[in-house]
Amino acid sequence: MLTTLIYRSQIPLTHEINLSLLVEKANVNNMSHGVSGILLFKDNVILQVLEGDESILEQLFSKIKHDSRHFGVVELMRDYAPRRRFENVGMMYFDLDTLEADAVLKTVRQLSKLKSYLLTEERVYKFIHTFITQKRALPVSQYFQPEKWSVIPQRSPFHTPERSPVDTQCCQFAFQPIIEPPAGHITSLEALIRNKDGGSPASFFASIDHNKRYEIDLNSKSVAFALAKEIDIGDHKISINILPMSLVVVPDAVEFLLQEIKKYGLMPEQVIVEVTEDEMISGFSQFSSAIKKLRVSGMGLAIDDFGAGYAGLSLLTKIQPDKVKIDREIITNIHLSGPKQAVVRSIISCCHELEIAVVAEGIERIEEWCWLESAGIKRFQGFLFALPELNGVGEIRWPVNTADSLVQA
Ligand code: C2E
Ligand code: MN
Ligand code: MN
Repeated sequence: MLTTLIYRSQIPLTHEINLSLLVEKANVNNMSHGVSGILLFKDNVILQVLEGDESILEQLFSKIKHDSRHFGVVELMRDYAPRRRFENVGMMYFDLDTLEADAVLKTVRQLSKLKSYLLTEERVYKFIHTFITQKRALPVSQYFQPEKWSVIPQRSPFHTPERSPVDTQCCQFAFQPIIEPPAGHITSLEALIRNKDGGSPASFFASIDHNKRYEIDLNSKSVAFALAKEIDIGDHKISINILPMSLVVVPDAVEFLLQEIKKYGLMPEQVIVEVTEDEMISGFSQFSSAIKKLRVSGMGLAIDDFGAGYAGLSLLTKIQPDKVKIDREIITNIHLSGPKQAVVRSIISCCHELEIAVVAEGIERIEEWCWLESAGIKRFQGFLFALPELNGVGEIRWPVNTADSLVQA
């Protein structure tokens, strides 16, 4: 299938690369594989449009991503089309540091057999146009330097309970910290429910009487609070997950939570209730009165898995929580994806404007953290930093700037 792929990358400032020669050499290969397109170069940033068969482009792009002569390769667009925009098989190269922007745009339009007014309506052309006409090409943030960081494990500052209270309880909890890396600060401990064998929330909820799930979900929170007391969380915060309907259906649910919070020596201000976007929307009118009670009680509210449901940003017109947790699916490989970056930037800017704290969850790679940190996110949760630990808090792996420590050594 005829595919168009656009990516952006950057050449290290220290490198002298003769791109024109490179493109000339690559063209021999491009011709034989039916790959066409254009390559633009400006302020050390590359924008390349590739057209060709899907699987051939896939292979070529994978090589491009691993080519050490450039870095920060971000895929901006992948689309399918009935015909090529740039008919001539082979790659055209334009160096915008030496050529006039208007002249390049004119040549680009002439290169295409598409009627000019049709071409200029296309996203492909708009990417090219923006790259050529904006004052500076968008470079990779100077703070995005994953190669300078590594994670170093540190023992958890919390107690390890003597024994699991599993015999007397319906369930157990695993704690996973949410952290602010440069500050070395633990924002909160998220309590994740486990069954008696340590199994997942899904297996726990599958094993119980479906009709009693709201009640059981709510009641289980006392096990989480008891564990918080046992590991001595001190002034730290604890985040609990609750089906919003548990707060609606179970009579005096908020009062129950308050009573249990007090029983285990915690304060309501230390507790954050996480609910997912989907659950919130489906029962919004009923849930909104529960939210009021929650707010009056002093507990915090977080929207979990933000961006995974169907409400997205419009949810923030209905309710402004204290915290938004961006879903793992958008976070995974964010450093490689232009669309993900655009979506996350808009979530960040929206939340900043509304003074809502943002957490990125599901961080597994140092590159993901670096990109998000350089985009302005401060709070993180994920296997890279800490795994959920049954009945306690495991070691936390803090990122350390190895480049800096080498200088200091
Ligand atoms: P969640 O609230 O979004 O919790 C985060 C989930 O992502 C946890 O899965 C955690 O283990 C996992 N996770 C954290 N970091 C990473 C990472 O870097 N990579 C990957 N692949 N996964 C990561 P878990 O414990 O299986 O929980 C799944 C979901 O079950 C939770 O998602 C939450 O929505 C729900 N849940 C957990 N505890 C409770 C509870 O007490 N009540 C209710 N109603 N739901 C709960
Ligand atoms: Mn959660
Ligand atoms: Mn989540």
